[in-house]
Amino acid sequence: MSSLVEFDSLYVHVPFCKNICDYCILYSVVENSREVRKAYLDKLESDLNQASKQLNSLKTIFVGGGTPSALSFEDLERLIKLLQGLSPQDEFTIECNPSSVDQAKLEMMYSKGVTRLSFGGQSTSRKTRKMLGRRTGDMELFSAIDLAQKVGFTRINVDLIYGVPGQTLADWQFDVEQVLKRGIRHFSAYSLILEEGSELSKRIHETDDDLAVEMYHLCEDLLKEAGLERYEVSNYAVPGQECRHNLDIWLGARYLGLGPAAASFDGVLRWTEKADLKAWIKGEQAEYDQIPQKERSAEVLAFGFRTKLGWKKERLHSLYGIDVLIEYKEILDTLMTQGLLEETKSSIRATQQGLLFADEIASVLVEYAQGISE
Ligand code: SF4
Repeated sequence: MSSLVEFDSLYVHVPFCKNICDYCILYSVVENSREVRKAYLDKLESDLNQASKQLNSLKTIFVGGGTPSALSFEDLERLIKLLQGLSPQDEFTIECNPSSVDQAKLEMMYSKGVTRLSFGGQSTSRKTRKMLGRRTGDMELFSAIDLAQKVGFTRINVDLIYGVPGQTLADWQFDVEQVLKRGIRHFSAYSLILEEGSELSKRIHETDDDLAVEMYHLCEDLLKEAGLERYEVSNYAVPGQECRHNLDIWLGARYLGLGPAAASFDGVLRWTEKADLKAWIKGEQAEYDQIPQKERSAEVLAFGFRTKLGWKKERLHSLYGIDVLIEYKEILDTLMTQGLLEETKSSIRATQQGLLFADEIASVLVEYAQGISE
């Protein structure tokens, strides 16, 4: 870990889940031992102490997982107390599963300075949840949102998934409309991806892409009507309610990731903690990214093109010490000619069409960077 850098953002990975959903490839474990959870929190405390000098000007904290809310009340309280003193300027988010929050946990989080909740809802349709191997009750998402709002939270995100085999357009419309009825001002809509290695990919081999595209457009229309605008490929918000943490990271912020499988970036180097709870607790070394600098700059550049805002040109003169506007001119011009990127007086960003092809833009940029590195 660099000893000089002041990080902008802190991410904490809580790897515990009550059960593992069939589509998920995030690092998580079903671990009920109190000793292991205590050892996890002890290690986190020690890592935070070690990094304390680099966390003095944090803008955001994001606690994700796994399922942070699956911790017991006492463990969750200890975790939040460890972070409370860091006083992020802009935002302190915790991811929650609707089935593992209750009034006591929500009140404690609110009183200790958590400013934003992100609920993994996925779907309220029983058959869709069954397909995803997700074990939550029918209307738990909506009761969790209602409860969080009663406690006082105004910044709430809901994640939902579309394009699931068996899910109809009407199922999807019901979920989106019900969320909007609750005055939610931030929404993440993810198209199901059959990730290699997930349980779901062993059962299902293809999805209905045409229906997924219909769902994508329906969602965009419903959200637009309610005043939520797309600001990243899968994220929508009422202007001013965007997730500051993710937005900063997509646009090259320096972030420290603590916890197993957590990734960090100090502006030059990227590293990832061991994706193995016990090895991480023992203090096994993180793995440093060996990607050449030009390729890395292409990846960071592509990340920024996932956002509607895109890159301010002045920033592109200094990305990794590489003048992207000169080095990547040819490929940027090609992507603009293809209508995937556009240039304004002060920025370069993806077009509406480009946001649909963000992964393709990323591959083209990385390939180009590999070509100029040779
Ligand atoms: S989707 Fe969420 S709750 Fe399900 S296994 Fe993955 S991290 Fe855990």
